[in-house]
Amino acid sequence: MFTIKGKTGDWEVVVGLETHIEVLSKSKIFSGASADYNPTVAPNTQVSMVDVAMPGMLPVLNEYCVDQAIKFGLGINAEISRKSCFARKQYFYPDLPQGYQITQPADQPPVVGRGWVEIMGDDGNPKKILIERAHMEQDAAKNKHDMHPAKSFVDFNRCGVMLLEIVTFLDTKNPENNSYISSPEEAERYLRQIREIARALGVSKANMEEGSMRADVNVSVKRVGSNTFGTRTETKNMVSFKFIKNHIENEARRQVEILESGGVVSQDTLRYHQDDGSSSVMRSKEDALDYRYFPDPDLLPLIITDEQIERIRKTMPELPAATRARYIEKFGLAEYDAARLTETVDISHWFDAAVDGKAERAKGVANWMISELFAHPENYDITNEKSGIVDGMRIITPSDLAELVDMVATSEINGKQAKDIFIKMLDGAEGTPRSIADKFGMKQITDTGAIEKIIDEVIAKNGPQVEQYKSGKLGLFGFFVGNVMKASAGKANPAVVNEILKKKLG
Ligand code: ADP
Ligand code: MG
Repeated sequence: MFTIKGKTGDWEVVVGLETHIEVLSKSKIFSGASADYNPTVAPNTQVSMVDVAMPGMLPVLNEYCVDQAIKFGLGINAEISRKSCFARKQYFYPDLPQGYQITQPADQPPVVGRGWVEIMGDDGNPKKILIERAHMEQDAAKNKHDMHPAKSFVDFNRCGVMLLEIVTFLDTKNPENNSYISSPEEAERYLRQIREIARALGVSKANMEEGSMRADVNVSVKRVGSNTFGTRTETKNMVSFKFIKNHIENEARRQVEILESGGVVSQDTLRYHQDDGSSSVMRSKEDALDYRYFPDPDLLPLIITDEQIERIRKTMPELPAATRARYIEKFGLAEYDAARLTETVDISHWFDAAVDGKAERAKGVANWMISELFAHPENYDITNEKSGIVDGMRIITPSDLAELVDMVATSEINGKQAKDIFIKMLDGAEGTPRSIADKFGMKQITDTGAIEKIIDEVIAKNGPQVEQYKSGKLGLFGFFVGNVMKASAGKANPAVVNEILKKKLG
C-alpha cells in the first residue's frame, strides 16, 4: 500500500481522474468537417460554418460518434443510458466561438453511466476501479501564442472534434471496498488501461504526448484505515504519466503537512508546474465558475435503442482484461506475465502472433519476450510490420521467436544454444534461427552414442572425483555435467547427459 509517513502517523492518498480522450471519427461531433486535425494539416482548413458558430447554423449529431461512445461504454462494463441530453456550458474564450461548449450535464444521466475497469493494484492483485460516468462533448480550438510577438492566432481545425470524458467514481458510502485509485502507480495503470481499451476498440489513439488524452487529477488524503475522505484539490489538463505521478505524490505530501500542522485543505483548482513539480492555485472554490448550464435547444435528447447496443456489442474485439484472463486460463501464464503481455494491445498482438494458437509454445514465448526481448526494444517492431534488417538493426519477428522456442522444445538445440542464437540475431545475423544454427554448427547432440563417448572420457579423466561421488559427495554431479557440456562445446542435450551420467556414476 502506498502511504505517506507523517509526523503523527501514516496517511493514504485518494485519487479521482477525469480523463478526456479525443474520439476517432471521420467528421466532427456536430458538423461535417473532417475530424483529423493532426499537426500536418494546414490551420483552419477543416472548419465548417457550424464549428465557428456562424449565425443560424445548427448542429447535427454524428451517429458514428454516438456509436463510439457506446462502444467505449461497453468496454468499461458500463450501463448505457437509453436517454441522455446535451447542454450548453457557457464560458468565453477565443478558442470557443459559440461562447459555450456542448456537453452532457453533470446532474443528468450521461450516455455512459456507472462502469469499472480492472487494474493491477499495488498489492499485485487485480483491483476494480469504479467509473461514475463517461460523457460526450466538443473539443475547443487551439490558441497559438507563439507565432507572432504581438498577436495570437486561433486554429479551428480541432474545434468540434468529439471528446469523451471518463470520470472515476469515489464510493464514499462504501469506502471499505477500496474501489478507487490510491497511489501514483495505480493512477498510471488506470490511465494505461483506459488507453488500451480505447485503442483496442478504435475509439481513440489516447496518446498523451500527442494530446489525444489528458486528465484532470483530483487528490485528497486520509488517515490509513479511516473511512472519512478528505477535501480534494483538482489539477487541470495533465498530459504525462510522469507529471501525474509526481504531482499526486507532491500534492499528497503538501496536504499531509497542512493537516498535521492543524490547517485545512482548501478545495482549490491547481496548476502544475513541470519544471519543479510544484503547483499553484488557479482558482479557489469561492470563485468557482458558474457555467450556467442549460439544455441545448438545438439538439434533441439522445435516444439509444437495445438493437443499437446489441449491434455494437457484436463488433467488440477482445479487450485487455479478457486477453489477460485467456493467457492465464488457456496458456497457464502467471498473473504478472499476463499483465506484462497485455500492457498494450500491440504487445499482446505480437505475443499472439508468435504463439499462433499453439498453447504449448506460450510459456516459452512469454519468457523470451519478458526476460530478453523487452530489454532490446530496437530489435523488434511491436506493430509487427517490419522484418529483416532495418536501419542496421536485425528485427526479431514473432515467427523468429516461435522457431527458437520450438527448437528448444524439440531438443533440436539446448537453452544455451538458443541464447547464443538470440545474441547472434541481436548482433545482426540474418536468416531464421534454424538457418543461424545450421550456419554456426549449433545443432544439439542428442545421439546417445556420441554423448556416452564424451561421458566416458570425462569419467576417465576425473578418477578422484568419481571416487568422492561414489562415497556420497553427490553435490559433484553438477561438476560432471559441466565438464561433459564443456567437452561437447555446449552442444550436448543436457537431459540426455543427465540421464546417462546418472546411470554411469551409479
Ligand atoms: P467536479 O464536477 O467538481 O469536477 P466531481 O464530483 O465530478 O467534481 O468529481 C471529480 C472527480 O473527483 C471524480 O473522479 C471524483 O471521484 C473525484 N473526487 C471526489 N471527491 C474526491 C476526494 N475527496 N478525493 C479524491 N478525489 C475525489
Ligand atoms: Mg472536474
